[in-house]
Amino acid sequence: MDVERLNGTVKSAEEALRWASDNLHPKVAKASSFGAEDAVITDMMIKINPEFRFFTLDTGRLPQETYEAMDRAREKYNMRLEVLFPDSGEVTEMVNSKGVNLFYESVENRMLCCRVRKTRPFDRFISQLDGWITGLRREHNAERSGARMFEIDRPHGGIVKINPLVSWTRAMVWEYIRKHDVPYNALLDRGYSSIGCAPCTRPVAEGQAERSGRWWWEAESHTECGLHLEGQ
Ligand code: SF4
Repeated sequence: MDVERLNGTVKSAEEALRWASDNLHPKVAKASSFGAEDAVITDMMIKINPEFRFFTLDTGRLPQETYEAMDRAREKYNMRLEVLFPDSGEVTEMVNSKGVNLFYESVENRMLCCRVRKTRPFDRFISQLDGWITGLRREHNAERSGARMFEIDRPHGGIVKINPLVSWTRAMVWEYIRKHDVPYNALLDRGYSSIGCAPCTRPVAEGQAERSGRWWWEAESHTECGLHLEGQ
């Protein structure tokens, strides 16, 4: 796949999604955590191809507001949403040996919890696809500042990773949401600029990095769960 050529020719989020519909559907799906970017991309995708696939990771620790946002999106778009769950045996073993809130105790425990509840179910699902679509933007944090609209996702078998809003600002995201009357997660009105698990996400103050509310008790640089890290 010549992603360099695509990055040179595809200029807008809609064009990127049309390319995904024409070239990868049905072996492409949008990952959604029901954040602001996910709301925008979902709206665009359904307008381009109502049969597009979506998936979300139900870690078992999501905030109630995210489940409500899931219901509202399903109701409005009648979308093909696949909800992925962790392996119950792995969760049982982890919680029984390390406790239900193990993630506060060490970085190692937090990464184990993210592996069991997020990255392993994600890896199992993504292995059947030729591409996946994310809500990643360069502005989110330092790790994402070099992201491109089209990438080869080497840790996930060399499939295509499409980041349609990669160059969008937060203001552009909210302009789209308001203009198109897109349903969104109620937490976004309460200072949450990134949506994750309830015990690991908190609101951020104006001017702080958008993902700085994730795993706030760890070093400032720990704002990724593993889905977007090279070499995971
Ligand atoms: Fe576990 Fe927190 Fe990671 Fe969710 S974000 S999987 S609760 S460590």
